[in-house]
Amino acid sequence: MLKVEHIGIAVKSIEASNELFTKLFAREPYKTEEVESEGVTTSFFQMGETKIELLEATKEDSAIAKFIAKRGEGIHHIAYEVEDIEKEMERLSNEGFTLLNQTPKKGADNKLVCFLHPKTTNGVLIELCQEIKE
Ligand code: ZN
Repeated sequence: MLKVEHIGIAVKSIEASNELFTKLFAREPYKTEEVESEGVTTSFFQMGETKIELLEATKEDSAIAKFIAKRGEGIHHIAYEVEDIEKEMERLSNEGFTLLNQTPKKGADNKLVCFLHPKTTNGVLIELCQEIKE
């Protein structure tokens, strides 16, 4: 793994939280993007080499809606950048980690992503992400 690419924070309202985090960081989000397949709207703040991702549910049955219903707003996942996501998925699977998706899927911000089940990572939802190069 190369670095912490971003930290994902589950929020009830991306509009209200964009305002709040703009005040907190004294900068605007550089993008807001809906990821239809995940049932979320996301926004990203650049913080040096790392980013903060805010996530708001757009569907009641999305993972973010369930997370907020159960635990309230807060840190949802930590994302690590990897060079070769398929290779890393195979390595981690062989090490006994549970992958939540068996093939990389398209995430926000031009990334291929895979999540690791928090039961195998001390309760922390881990996202692997690899930049899509064309
Ligand atoms: Zn993320």
